[in-house]
Amino acid sequence: MTTPNQPISGNDLARFSGPNTFMRLPQAGSLEDVDVAVLGIPMDIGTSWRSGTRFGPKQVRAESAMIRPYNLQTGAAPFDSLNVADIGDLAINTFSLADSLRIIRESYAMVLSGDVIPMAIGGDHSLTLPILRAVAERHGPVALVHVDAHADVNDEMFGERETHGTVFRRAYEEGLINPQKTYQIGLRGTGYAATDFTEAAGWGFQQFLAPELWHRSLSPLGAEIRRDIGEAPVYVSYDIDSLDPAYAPGTGTPEIGGLTTAQAMELIRALRGLNIVGCDLVEVSPPYDTSGNTALTGANLLFELLCVLPGVTYR
Ligand code: MN
Ligand code: MN
Repeated sequence: MTTPNQPISGNDLARFSGPNTFMRLPQAGSLEDVDVAVLGIPMDIGTSWRSGTRFGPKQVRAESAMIRPYNLQTGAAPFDSLNVADIGDLAINTFSLADSLRIIRESYAMVLSGDVIPMAIGGDHSLTLPILRAVAERHGPVALVHVDAHADVNDEMFGERETHGTVFRRAYEEGLINPQKTYQIGLRGTGYAATDFTEAAGWGFQQFLAPELWHRSLSPLGAEIRRDIGEAPVYVSYDIDSLDPAYAPGTGTPEIGGLTTAQAMELIRALRGLNIVGCDLVEVSPPYDTSGNTALTGANLLFELLCVLPGVTYR
């Protein structure tokens, strides 16, 4: 491979023009020579409260046009060493959640077979279950860093076992994740029952409630998680509602008292060095994002995730 793909520079083409790909990277029709594939999963039929995440991928991509290729704070230069491409949106079936989950799993099986690291822009959180099914098929049960206001471990919702609130119970039951290396960060809010979180703690999930993290740097916690996971393959699932609604109001199920943007960045940056095999940023709902800040924050957190992937050059 020659020079890796580069985002279009804001000095070559005005930021407000050009393709609506992530950071205005080339859109790839094939996975050949691609190291990291950014893809959209535009869906909201797995959500329980406000809808709108079907517009998430488009809006996160739109806000990502302002991001420049070098991370001046960490030194990361992801486009110097990794070939990153936007492979567009998955063609989900907006009339069927079950069919959409099947499409996601099959699409991921294809992406992962080429040793490509997928970065998904959601979409509601139900999309992570079929991703984990494909990831586990490829890598075995993975470590999981799950940042969210919610544990998403309900057994069922309206009798449905596959929703945005049941993902990690299914992942546990199906053996897709290593429960001893599963970290849920930012949990808070109200529960259906007093025991909503505790059962998963009994499976081995390590849970870090938001109030324990208030007013603290998340760098030490991130470093502890990194040491604990070691060399194991790890998947990172980032629900934007982990952030306080003051920072990320445009989401389906906001909970007050959440993480700050700075904490979100500290946590991701501390994960550098892990064998991350895929990640997602979910639950951005543009209709509730009147300032655009939620999509902007989501785009930047995806960039921060890109900056800690294996193989990134630091300058
Ligand atoms: Mn979630
Ligand atoms: Mn959530």
